[in-house]
Amino acid sequence: MNDEQQPQFESAKSEVQRKTLDQREQMTELMRLRHSCAHILATAVLRLWPDALLDIGPPTEEGFYYDFELKHRFTPDDFPKIEEEMRKITKENQVFEKSIKTRVEALAYFEGKGQTFKVQRLGDIPEGEPISFFQNGEFVDLCAGPHVMRTGNVKPGGIKLLKVASAYFRGNEKNPQLQRLYGTAFKNKEELDNWLKMQEEARKRDHRKIGTEMGLFAMDPEYVGPGLPLWLPKGTVLVEELERLAKETEFQAGYVRVKTPHLAKEKMYKTSGHLPYYAESMFPPMEMLEEDERQKREDLMERRADLIQLAEGMGKAISPNPSGYTEEQVRRDIQKLESEITLLGGRYYLKAMNCPHHHRIFAAEPRSYRDLPLRLAEYGTCYRYEQSGELFGVMRVRSMNMNDAHLYCTAEQFAEEFRAVNEMYLKYFKIFGLDRYQMRFSTHDPARLGQKFVNEPELWKKTEDMVRQVLIESGINYVEVPNEAAFYGPKIDVQVWSAIGREFTIATNQVDFAVPARFGLTYRDRDNTEKTPLCIHRAPLGTHERFIGFLIEHYAGNFPLWLAPEQVRVLTLNDEAPLVEYAKSITAELRSHFVRVEGDWSANPVKAKIADAETSKVHTMLVVGQRDLEAGAVSVRLHGKGNVGAKPRAEVVADLLTAIRERRA
Ligand SMILES: [Zn+2]
Ligand SMILES: [Zn+2]
Repeated sequence: MNDEQQPQFESAKSEVQRKTLDQREQMTELMRLRHSCAHILATAVLRLWPDALLDIGPPTEEGFYYDFELKHRFTPDDFPKIEEEMRKITKENQVFEKSIKTRVEALAYFEGKGQTFKVQRLGDIPEGEPISFFQNGEFVDLCAGPHVMRTGNVKPGGIKLLKVASAYFRGNEKNPQLQRLYGTAFKNKEELDNWLKMQEEARKRDHRKIGTEMGLFAMDPEYVGPGLPLWLPKGTVLVEELERLAKETEFQAGYVRVKTPHLAKEKMYKTSGHLPYYAESMFPPMEMLEEDERQKREDLMERRADLIQLAEGMGKAISPNPSGYTEEQVRRDIQKLESEITLLGGRYYLKAMNCPHHHRIFAAEPRSYRDLPLRLAEYGTCYRYEQSGELFGVMRVRSMNMNDAHLYCTAEQFAEEFRAVNEMYLKYFKIFGLDRYQMRFSTHDPARLGQKFVNEPELWKKTEDMVRQVLIESGINYVEVPNEAAFYGPKIDVQVWSAIGREFTIATNQVDFAVPARFGLTYRDRDNTEKTPLCIHRAPLGTHERFIGFLIEHYAGNFPLWLAPEQVRVLTLNDEAPLVEYAKSITAELRSHFVRVEGDWSANPVKAKIADAETSKVHTMLVVGQRDLEAGAVSVRLHGKGNVGAKPRAEVVADLLTAIRERRA
């Protein structure tokens, strides 16, 4: 079972943030082109459906969209007609002409046209920011730009409409539902065609499709719940091989492993700051009462009920009140009881990240500078509440296993620790054949210290300088993104491109100045003072769910030998006893070396056996016939590559074991 079919109109939930003028300045040429196409799309739609109401049309990662309200329901059948009109508009070579309006003028214009969404969008423009209109041909839009100069700068062959979806105005379900037309645009037809080809290939490599075909994972929304994947035996092989890789690599890098429970008390997440800020992404709490607290709770509840009754009686002035116990006092006592009741037991939360547990492990023993750096690693299971509409195969789930570690170090140790983390990334990239990657280094904005960023000006500067230095010295491909750091320190998002050129963010590294202090973590330094360590959060292999989803696309399910769920299958040319014995002994030998090997010595024709192994994406097939038996040899076939010739059995076994041990591509 998988994520089921996409609904015909998938809903777009998140509301796009209005771009600041700075962000607009930074829009790339391609983004300008695509945003200009959104105007061209709106122009075309208005020509075809003059009663359409317009919302906005920003560029997106894949192209652009425009939101409309109109009675006609768009379907893909409308696309050729709209595209045709768009091409016409590019050929008309209209100039994008800018004019500045006063708020009153702008309001009058859109009210006059009945464009109610535009009227509301006008209110989003901050006081003081100029209100600009852009006109191309007969179409006028409220827009801050930037655009290309003329519609003719958009090549008619580079435009394509992609899909239609429904979207609530401002992403809010209480607002009217609009129709969102998605399109894309490229510099020319050739680039568009290449992209379309890549999309087509991505569809073939869709991790949900391959995951089901290969029996890697299953979704069971009815019994287990949506977004909670079950790893089937073959998928578990991938999980465990990745864990083995991580454990070996981390062991060699001086990490130690820990194990933590999947839940913790409310106090943990209040201390970390996840509550209340991150509450929406966590599963709701579980209320728990310890055994000795049950009776106490009952007693308190009983007393509360009595007092409520008493208070009600006082309100009606039925019962006399000889003790002088006033109604106000009773109400106060009720409140006291209620807070006592809530303090009993506790609220537990499923963990959404592993950091707080690791911090408590740091705090579990007294630490000295001699213990640092302390590198705590765990493939930790986390639970996050993603909206059901956001769930996507195993790429976007509600339970995940993270290749997590927290490195606690002194400021002096930081650069070396950070460098070592980067090296680990590069090592992994090599193993997985990822030649194209980029690190997005998000830094702080000194003007926003104390608001958006924790107020540690020197620490920010020093750490960012060190990170930058390490990135430059390691020759790592990176871009610096100002003003996008996390609250408590700079972060690095790691982006990789799959074999077919699609981009994925697989991991985030963070430097943390603030949280160790919130947890009161200290170590005793050389000079006998207590100091707070820095903490590096890192997860090079991300989560199993996301990383395996990525690997499925990257390899199209044809995993390298070391990862392949079924590494080897031994096939016999016929089912004669001596041959079957020979095949069985090869299988047993490989199995004794922990190779994942299966045997097929049925009477089926060998062609059919090979076809079956190919369909199952078995990495290596060892075919044996009478001649191989006599020569003590085997014929080797590789998945998708065919026969690579016969070799002595011992050599084949040794080669397989070496390739697996070295994790060859
Ligand atoms: Zn515009
Ligand atoms: Zn962390």
